[in-house]
Amino acid sequence: MVATRSFVPVSPDSDFPIQNLPFGAFRAGDETRLAVRLGDHVVDLRALAEAGSFDDAALADALAQPTLNALMGLGRPAWRAARATLLRLLAEDEPRLRDDAALRDRAIRPVAEVDVVMPVTIGDYTDFYSSREHATNVGIMFRGKDNALMPNWLHLPVAYHGRASSVVLSGTPVRRPSGQTKADDAEAPSFGPCRLLDYEYEMGFFTGPATRLGEPVPIDRATDHIFGMCIVNDWSARDIQKWEYQPLGPFLAKNFATTISPWIVTLEALEPFRCAGPAQDPEPLPYLRATGEQTYDIRLEVGLQTPAMDAPAPISLSNFRYLYWSMAQQLAHHTATGCPLNPGDLMASGTISGPTKESRGSMLELCWRGTEPIELPGGETRKFLQDGDTLVMRAWCEGDGYRIGFGECRGTIEPAL
Ligand code: MN
Repeated sequence: MVATRSFVPVSPDSDFPIQNLPFGAFRAGDETRLAVRLGDHVVDLRALAEAGSFDDAALADALAQPTLNALMGLGRPAWRAARATLLRLLAEDEPRLRDDAALRDRAIRPVAEVDVVMPVTIGDYTDFYSSREHATNVGIMFRGKDNALMPNWLHLPVAYHGRASSVVLSGTPVRRPSGQTKADDAEAPSFGPCRLLDYEYEMGFFTGPATRLGEPVPIDRATDHIFGMCIVNDWSARDIQKWEYQPLGPFLAKNFATTISPWIVTLEALEPFRCAGPAQDPEPLPYLRATGEQTYDIRLEVGLQTPAMDAPAPISLSNFRYLYWSMAQQLAHHTATGCPLNPGDLMASGTISGPTKESRGSMLELCWRGTEPIELPGGETRKFLQDGDTLVMRAWCEGDGYRIGFGECRGTIEPAL
């Protein structure tokens, strides 16, 4: 039975009730420490581990590290044990931590008083392309209606290997990239600041434990290697992308910044929100076939705030469940060749677009390549992002009287160098 109330006060509309307990990290003095988020507080896992709160020595050691990689490497039994211990310790009626003033004050701190930092050393980053609606929309715009969905798309989860080095935490400013572009009517390409800067609303998952070179992960064991999820903004330079992408896919159009939300929500916390994804036709090949509910009902929202606005205005509402290919299928496909996984690899879903106009997951699609500008409160319009614009992505599961939220994934555009 999951505790539903903590002795730490949590407001009823918080993204982070005790049922959530997402993992992250914060900086205190010279040290980075792992934490779970609870309401407006962080719970210092190293402080709890050093006080003997976790029975298992390997788990206690992993929780005392400055990144989540060791914990991710331990696997689901350890992830479950950590969660069970934390749920027990933080419950309203549990006196051990509640009534130990010294440990409580050391371990539970207001989030406003610490710096939340990147909790994972990300080894590899892969970006999928798993929304049928997104792939269709982009295909129509780039190649025309007849070639919208490539012949492979319904048979395998398409992806490219991205750059882990430019994955940044929510709040990090994003500099407008410069690159090579060529206008349709220009004779020759030119180099300069991107003019069609866009976002892509995605969600990502972190992997663990490690697998060995040459050993695929079968689909029925794929979720054993998924620690938890975060929001991902795959910032995209559309004019650079359009000129460079054939035949090998995105390169500089995507490698200047990828922003993630700071709190990693575990599959255990998401379990009540498991649901079926879209029907798959044609039936996937056996190595991609899975039974049962394979995805999660996670609501997604994008807000845009220009320098003239006081608060972000919602420009898109969508849902993670629209994705055609599941995380298990992505992971099984990724490792089918024997490509190894390491704890802390990041895999992102690809832009999540839904069936309606408001559920489109990028400005390229919302504005249909600039032909239908977004109208903002106050009278401004946008086709693509301008310098000073701030993008705020949110995601949450709506429970009965509570929500399992991801917090926000935020970034502000700075002018090109
Ligand atoms: Mn993407």
